[in-house]
Amino acid sequence: MPGALKTGECVALSPEQANYLLNVLRLREGARVLTFNGRDGEFEASLAQISKKSVALQIEKHLRPQEYPWDIDYLFAPLKHARLDYVSQKAVEMGVRRICPVITRQTQVSRVNIERLRANAREAAEQCGVIWLAEIVEERPLARALADVPEDRVLVYCDEDAPNGRTVASLAAYAAPTAVSLLVGPEGGFDEAERALILRAPNVCRLSLGPRILRADTAAVAALALIQAYWGDWR
Ligand code: SAM
Repeated sequence: MPGALKTGECVALSPEQANYLLNVLRLREGARVLTFNGRDGEFEASLAQISKKSVALQIEKHLRPQEYPWDIDYLFAPLKHARLDYVSQKAVEMGVRRICPVITRQTQVSRVNIERLRANAREAAEQCGVIWLAEIVEERPLARALADVPEDRVLVYCDEDAPNGRTVASLAAYAAPTAVSLLVGPEGGFDEAERALILRAPNVCRLSLGPRILRADTAAVAALALIQAYWGDWR
């Protein structure tokens, strides 16, 4: 829900939301739903049908205060449509706070459909029961994205050339960081100049994800699982 949410208020839904509740979920006047806007927490609400096509939500009860995920930025070279949908959904399920497409030399797509990323992130939030909306950052060139990583943030660089068998040890070298930026390369990998630039970044942690070359979306989920298990909200 874009607008502010407050108990007792009546909030009009967008035509898409009204269509989804009336025609997809086949809900009727008085039906109870849970709603959130990523700022005010979660509320219980009931459907108030205004007209054949327009619906409002009567906000009934505040259920839980706003929650935010642990501070993980997911920096990745955007993939083609279906796989971009997949990685944005998985990133939310894995508890990422910001989704940050990064343009590299071997990136498959030069323009990113930010609205599509946002819609996927919202859908994933609804499905996995979280009440925050991952922030979608406009695509940036790699050098800019690296320069924007604050020095006190650990940059976890998924590096297929990192020494194998040291995955846990490479994470153990950092005592419970408060914020992490995860970097996953394009299908074609980073070129030598890009690799050198990444390795010159302050606080870079080279992470091996084992002896096999993983596809970029698999690497993202594997690395996020390690980060959450080792430093994050799976502990
Ligand atoms: N560079 C490879 C190439 O030349 O074909 C493959 C790139 S891989 C498909 C895409 C990205 O996934 C890599 O840039 C890296 O960030 C990550 N990745 C894949 N396998 C990995 C591994 N075993 N360890 C660490 N990162 C890996």
